[in-house]
Amino acid sequence: MYSMRSVDSQSVRLRPQSDPLSIRGVRHLWDGALSLLYPASCCGCGQPLAWPHFCTRCQVEIRTPQSPMCVLCGAPFGTTGDLDHRCGRCLAATPSYGRARACAVYAAADRADHPLKAVLQRYKYTPDVSLARPLGRLLAERCPLVIGEYSVIMPVPLHVSRLRWRGFNQSQLLARALARRAGVPMDAFSLERVRPTRPQVELDHAERQRNVRHAFQVRRPARVRSQRILLVDDVYTTGATADECSRELMQAGAAVVDVLTLARAVAQ
Ligand SMILES: [Zn+2]
Ligand SMILES: [Zn+2]
Repeated sequence: MYSMRSVDSQSVRLRPQSDPLSIRGVRHLWDGALSLLYPASCCGCGQPLAWPHFCTRCQVEIRTPQSPMCVLCGAPFGTTGDLDHRCGRCLAATPSYGRARACAVYAAADRADHPLKAVLQRYKYTPDVSLARPLGRLLAERCPLVIGEYSVIMPVPLHVSRLRWRGFNQSQLLARALARRAGVPMDAFSLERVRPTRPQVELDHAERQRNVRHAFQVRRPARVRSQRILLVDDVYTTGATADECSRELMQAGAAVVDVLTLARAVAQ
């Protein structure tokens, strides 16, 4: 369950490899007890599994973005035999982040029950925090970036009004899972969403840019200055949110801001 304490970066500087054996043992016992009470299943198709994750068949259906792709925003070109280069959008306006990469890709044309598309819908629009673990695992397993290159992981923040309504920040849970696995600190406190924004889903690119303009603010610049930041979000669609967050972080003195999303939505 989300708690205000978990928002603070100090509370999530976790390094699992340094866990005492006794704590790990208790965790395994607890996981075992939970699996007896609540048998695990594939979060994509529901078939029984040893632990909550995606089954092999669903994993095969979840595609990874392939080259050739845009060197900056990571948009796959859908062609073969070409080298990575800048896409038209990044040629027209260079993003404020260094590069954006996704762990998986789905198309608008994919069927509604496509494993990743369906799970992300559930994760984003229902209070189902149990999905954070398998999705965090997928994020860590398929991450195309070297996490050790970053000094801090930051989730895209939610406005406090949406946080109250939803009960948790879906990007923060993903960022926390990645931070724990990689042993890199997470800071979910220094970047803040200072005004509520409309859901981006029904907006085009220009409207999305206007919607998020000046929606974020760095409230602890000293924690951002000279940092190599990996910004984490659940889905990258047009990149307007990632671009706006990165602009604020770079203006506050960050050395690098790269973006990692669990999924990238593409036209086809
Ligand atoms: Zn499955
Ligand atoms: Zn691009």
